Amino acid sequence: MRWAPTEMHGDDVKLEPAWDGHCHLGPVPGRTPEEKATTLIEYGSRLRVERFVLFMGWPFAYDPSPAELRRQNDQVLQAISHWQDRLFAYCYVNPKQVEASRKEILRCVRDGPMVGLKLWVAVRCTDPRVRELVALAAELQAVVFQHTWLKSTGNLPGESTPEDLVRLAREFPRVTFICGHAGGNWKRALYEIKDQPNIVVETAGFDPTAGFVERAVALLGANRVIFGSDTGGRSLASQLGKVYGAAVDDGARRAILRDNLRRLLEPAVQRKGFHPW
Ligand SMILES: [Zn+2]
Repeated sequence: MRWAPTEMHGDDVKLEPAWDGHCHLGPVPGRTPEEKATTLIEYGSRLRVERFVLFMGWPFAYDPSPAELRRQNDQVLQAISHWQDRLFAYCYVNPKQVEASRKEILRCVRDGPMVGLKLWVAVRCTDPRVRELVALAAELQAVVFQHTWLKSTGNLPGESTPEDLVRLAREFPRVTFICGHAGGNWKRALYEIKDQPNIVVETAGFDPTAGFVERAVALLGANRVIFGSDTGGRSLASQLGKVYGAAVDDGARRAILRDNLRRLLEPAVQRKGFHPW
């Protein structure tokens, strides 16, 4: 099947307000979390990206110790403390360190400003230790972001596949899970997650390939697709291009760029007693 590109010619592109659900400050220029956050917000202002979700500090750590988890979450807390109207954050957790991760969730989500969990590659999400952390997220109405990939060269030992995420999501039907990177191999991932309604797919962090957003909307519905860039590891413009270049209607585009993420974060934000939008 051929995908018809939408009509876009340079300055004619009408930018919609966007929320970026996937950012890391590490690669963004700046010496401190505050400087990096300021740079990111400036980049966003050029492309009408109004809000960003941050998670993990730097340098990237696959299997962080309790002290490193705390240090990285502190970097993010420091960054967002100056920009509560522009920045959200998810708490980085390591299921190999269940007790330390529980403490971080209580500190950063229950008692702090964070609104979700970030699970990366320490263990696959079918590991029983993950459930303990997800159960705590459920109590706090926080979303759960799981990095997923299907690498042709083989995944890391602790790297989850979209199918792993389906197994976890089945056990927690009231929690919203974000399938990070659409599994990389989105053609397979979309089929695997489509019948699990509490999984949304996100667009971040692989090359912009024609047909992805259209296929995601066709299989999952526009309200289960959210925009994320993986900036500073990826450029905002190339990642936004996936959504602006997709042959979907304007309502779907607005939902993907902003409205879906706003809806998903609303319960956790309201729990904190403020309503910033
Ligand atoms: Zn990322």
